[in-house]
Amino acid sequence: MAARVIDGKAVAAAVRARVRGEVAAYAESAGRTPLLATILVGEDPASQIYIRKKGEACEEVGMRSVHHGLDAATGEAELLALVRELGEDDDVDGILCQLPVPDQIDENAVVAAIEPSKDVDGLTPQNAGLLAHGEPGLVPCTPNGVMELLAHEGVELEGAEAVVVGRSKLVGVPVARLLLLANATVTTCHSRTRDLAAVCRRADVLVAAVGVPRLLGADAVKPGAVVIDVGVNRLEDGLAGDVDFEAAAAVASAITPVPGGVGPMTIAMLLANTLQAARARAPGA
Ligand code: NAP
Repeated sequence: MAARVIDGKAVAAAVRARVRGEVAAYAESAGRTPLLATILVGEDPASQIYIRKKGEACEEVGMRSVHHGLDAATGEAELLALVRELGEDDDVDGILCQLPVPDQIDENAVVAAIEPSKDVDGLTPQNAGLLAHGEPGLVPCTPNGVMELLAHEGVELEGAEAVVVGRSKLVGVPVARLLLLANATVTTCHSRTRDLAAVCRRADVLVAAVGVPRLLGADAVKPGAVVIDVGVNRLEDGLAGDVDFEAAAAVASAITPVPGGVGPMTIAMLLANTLQAARARAPGA
């Protein structure tokens, strides 16, 4: 294997340590600690684990968290009322509704009801619009984590060819936008892209956010490329990314593993976003 393996756990730990220090400074000047409110509708086991980890991560950096667990049969109106109530609660800095929500609830309506200044997932139309305009706002956690990994690795983005596979609101679109803002030349691929491997092979920086296990092999990787694999696919024998790790690592210069690459960054950036939201609501702090 030629490629350096990018240690997402270590970079995430560094981000958490930085946030912990900044939370302490915020608490001293503001006389309070940031508060993240989480919501989960239903009892999906994977979502329950994510929510628990988010609460523990808040505690670890000195922030508070409060969780609202709602019955799987909860209606849209009840959830919207809670989201709005948290938006108006002056003690709440961040609101996170774990997605997906059950079928009887319109996900877009829930996201749109989140107070934009507390939208620590960066998914509201307001924050997506600010990112589209290149203006400061709350940026989605996983894309922010991808950029943090690239910065930590010292990857030169200015003028680089970047290819993003996937165009979701959650990952692909914001990653592509952030890479463009960093002056990379960006191509976005999706399910209708012709000759995916050939387009990917142009990339100095290849970001995969697809949800198809090991879709991208050695033929999709330019020799010396940096490969960031966002994919998390649960297989019988464990987790797999969207990139065939062994094959790509033989060609790339650096690559993220799954697990242990992008995954740990998401919660770390959620903490950073919650602190950013708290600071923005108390500008003097
Ligand atoms: P998504 O909403 O399902 O979007 C997938 C994207 O991949 C779509 O744009 C789709 O194209 C494209 N696609 C699907 N099949 C393709 C193919 N054969 N060739 C090229 N493009 C294809 O998924 P997502 O929410 O962005 O998540 C992507 C992956 O990242 C998933 O594995 C997810 O679990 C993982 N993820 C990880 C984290 C983390 O913390 N590490 C966070 C979020 C997501 P169309 O638009 O044409 O349909």
